[in-house]
Amino acid sequence: MVNLDKISFSKAHHILHTLEMCMISHEQWFEKINLNLIKKRPFAAQFTDKEAYNKCRMGGFLKSLEDDLLGSDIYTDILFLHRRVHNTARAITQVKVSEYNNIYNLYDELITQRNALKWVVLILENQLKNNIVQVDPLTGLMNRQKMESTLRRVQGGDEENSIICIADIDHFKKINDTYGHTVGDLVLINVANLIKSSLRPSDAIFRYGGEEFVLSITAPRKKVMGIVENLRKKIERSVTTTMDGREISVTASFGMVTMDRDISVTDNITNADKALYHSKESGRNRITRYEDMAMMEEAMV
Ligand code: GH3
Ligand code: MG
Ligand code: MG
Repeated sequence: MVNLDKISFSKAHHILHTLEMCMISHEQWFEKINLNLIKKRPFAAQFTDKEAYNKCRMGGFLKSLEDDLLGSDIYTDILFLHRRVHNTARAITQVKVSEYNNIYNLYDELITQRNALKWVVLILENQLKNNIVQVDPLTGLMNRQKMESTLRRVQGGDEENSIICIADIDHFKKINDTYGHTVGDLVLINVANLIKSSLRPSDAIFRYGGEEFVLSITAPRKKVMGIVENLRKKIERSVTTTMDGREISVTASFGMVTMDRDISVTDNITNADKALYHSKESGRNRITRYEDMAMMEEAMV
């Protein structure tokens, strides 16, 4: 089953824009049908051709979407309705001018099918717009809105060891102040890509705020620390090269918590944030587990 959520930010933009153009073109095609009927003019190949549904702008575009959308219900509906609209239009073109009095049923069918096509296109557009509003345009990561719904789903699932981890780049303000905001953006993109490429498909990363990322990791308790430690080291070792050849290194601090199902997702994140604060306070470029912090606090009482 095709998941429209997987369609990237830029692809969703492209599909939305092109679909809009195609629908305008279809509108003009329909206007020509009406004009021809009123003026009792003969119809050109774009109406009479059996393959017209493949040859029109919309048909060509729909074909180009096969790789991304084939298998999704909405795409199947659009293909079906688009073809029917063309077939009905073709049937209209076969009616002799002398029999135009009997064209009403066919014309009514065409209107109904066009409306249905517009509806399904609208549904696809809404789904794609949803993708766009859930993606952070700078890094291409899922944003905070998507994070909340995803973490709630993870919390409701049956994975035993779900970990929430917040990563925050250390002294990032200094990067902006020293190299400028554009270079700062580049560093953010690189760190985001580095973390994303290190996680497994079952894990997820979200841009939580400016230079903060939330990670959802599912792994046995013993392995999680190693996974996050690897990320910390990778970030420490990575270098961002500016356009003028300067090399920038950053580190990140981490706070993590094992998802507690008895409290809200927001409270879980607050706990991870407390652990992150501890990492910052104790020197940065390190990882703190919330559970260890709570134990340390208990021991101090
Ligand atoms: P700490 O080690 O305590 O985390 O220090 P910090 O400097 O990283 O944290 P602080 O919160 O003081 O500064 C974060 C900076 O991140 C300030 C803000 O201008 C910058 N920032 C936030 N979003 C973006 C962005 O999209 N692009 C760039 N270039 N900078 C951003
Ligand atoms: Mg921060
Ligand atoms: Mg920071």
